[in-house]
Order: sequence, then structure tokens, then C-alpha cells
Amino acid sequence: MKAFVMNGIGRVGFADKPIPTPGPNDAIIKATRALICTSDAHTVHGAIGPRENLTLGHEAVGIVHEIGSNVTHFKRGDRVVIGAITPDWGDPASQAGYSSQSGAALGGWKFANIKDGTFAEYFHVNDADANMALIPSGISDDAAVYCCDMMSTGFKAAENGAIPIGGTVAVFALGSVGLMSIAGARLCGAGLIIGVDSIPKRQELARAYGADAIVDFAREDVVKRIMELTGGAGVDAAIEALGSDESFQNAIKVTKPGGSISNAGYHGKGDFVSIPRLDWGVGMAEKTIRTLLCPGGRLRMERMLRLLQNNRLDPTRMTTHTFKFDQLERAFEMMDKKLDGIIKPLITF
Ligand SMILES: [Zn+2]
Repeated sequence: MKAFVMNGIGRVGFADKPIPTPGPNDAIIKATRALICTSDAHTVHGAIGPRENLTLGHEAVGIVHEIGSNVTHFKRGDRVVIGAITPDWGDPASQAGYSSQSGAALGGWKFANIKDGTFAEYFHVNDADANMALIPSGISDDAAVYCCDMMSTGFKAAENGAIPIGGTVAVFALGSVGLMSIAGARLCGAGLIIGVDSIPKRQELARAYGADAIVDFAREDVVKRIMELTGGAGVDAAIEALGSDESFQNAIKVTKPGGSISNAGYHGKGDFVSIPRLDWGVGMAEKTIRTLLCPGGRLRMERMLRLLQNNRLDPTRMTTHTFKFDQLERAFEMMDKKLDGIIKPLITF
């Protein structure tokens, strides 16, 4: 079978690999749709160190091709969504409620990190009964593939903001995670949602997903404008969806005392992330900083699918480009360099 792999830092290409085989608890999936994630580009640029002949990708849906002898919830031919994060559910971290951290910090992140990812004609899923969900008829693969990571991550960012009903939220950066944070804040009952970005297409989508106001960092002082929009109070929750030190600092600055900073950004550079001391109330303003890695698990994905089934949102509006699997190299380059206003490229198999 063909797989799209990383061959050392900065190098990608196609490789031939054998179709994987399942262990007793596993499944092999024939991919039908995948999405490229900005974190795939971070990985190729060395954020988690060098990798050789490692299949990239972690967001995909497909058809069950083969199951292990212990798998009971799925059968060959089922149409399934697979979590980007595939935890070990027996691990103590999972039992404590932090399954994405099972085994080690970020240990639930296996695809394109410690094992082959989903940019292949077939891929392997560990703990299949717990890490996949059946896609109900009526939900397209094109929509379901957003449950793997973008919806789960963006909604978790909103959940981590502990947004009170009618409360105020600022979302820094309106890529797909930021856009789903906007949609998540809306679902959580926010009364005012402010999106921060300078790209018109992203601003338009943010409004469609529930943003009430947009702050354009290229034209105005972000912190000053958010404070104005909240009558000088600051927001109940600030969501950082970029992974930049500057926007992380701004998130802390605009959060009111007692509020929450929810980090969804992938801080892939430098040794430290900075906290502005005075805006942090010299450590005493009761501003909570929460971090997350995309939550996985069948229950979580079934909840995501229920939102699609009942038309709470349409994630396919983020699909700006579509490529065939054999065009992945070009798609990857476009995502990496953010060419042609790309937000999310859909890959078809
Ligand atoms: Zn992703």
C-alpha cells in the first residue's frame, strides 16, 4: 500500500509499506477521508524531533477492513471515525480522567508520533472498541472527519474556559481550532464571543460559527480593543489557539481576575512561554491556566457526531481545498505555507 511519510526533518514523500495487521484489541481501517493538520507541518519541521519513514497524519475516517479477536463493537465494513488521539484506556492517567496523557505526557498521541499515522491507504488503530465510533447514516465522511481533532479540540478549549452562560470569551487566532473554539463557546452559552485574526475568510467563518465581534490585530491593538469591547472588565475566558508567545501573553492580559486562560495552541518553539507578571496579578489574580491535548475516545466522538446529526454546526465550511491522496505532497506544501487562503485541505482516497 502507499503511505505519505516523513523522512527526517523537513522531508516528506510517498513510500510503499505492507498493510498493517491487528493485535487482539486493534483494527485496521481503509481510509476514505483525511484532513491535514497544522501540527503535521510542525512535526515535519522537527517539533517532536526527527522521524524516519514515519507515516504522517492523524485525522481520518474510513471503513473497517479487519478487526482483532477481542473487538466486539465493530465489524468489517463499518464506517467509522477514529480519534486523532488514541489513548490506552487501562492506564492510570485515563482512570484519573486524563486519557490523552496515558502512558506519558501527551502519551495518547500515537499517530504520526510514536507509530504510523493515517495518511495511508490502510492504517492501524489500537484499542479499537474505545478509540473509534460508528458514523450514523446521514452524516457524510466529509463532515465526520472533523470529529477526529478539530471539533474535539476546539470544543475542549471552550470547555476548559469554564465559560459561564452569558459570559465573555476571546479566541486568539481563527484557524480551524480557533473556529471550532468559537463554535464551542457558542454551544457553551457564551454571551459575547470575540475572535482575533486578520484574514477576511477566517473572520467571515468566525462570524458564521458564532463570533459577535472581530478584532483585527493588523489594524488595532488587540488588548486595548478587547478591553473596550468588554467595558474595561476583560473576558471570562481567553482561548489561545495559535501557539505563539505573544498571543498567550495577550490572553492572560485580557482575562479578568478569576477568569480562565485556555491554551489549545501548539507551542513548538523556544524554551519558555512567558506570563506577564503584573497582568497575572503578580500570581494572585486567580487567573487559571488550563492546557489540553485533543480528547479521544468513543464516547467523546459519539457526542461530536450527535452535534452533526442534529445540525448544530457544519464543519465542512472550513474545507477550503480538496486533494486526491496522490496529490498529498502539493496539499502538504500548501498547508505548510498557508497558500491560497487555505484553512483545511480535505484528502480523498
Ligand atoms: Zn490535528
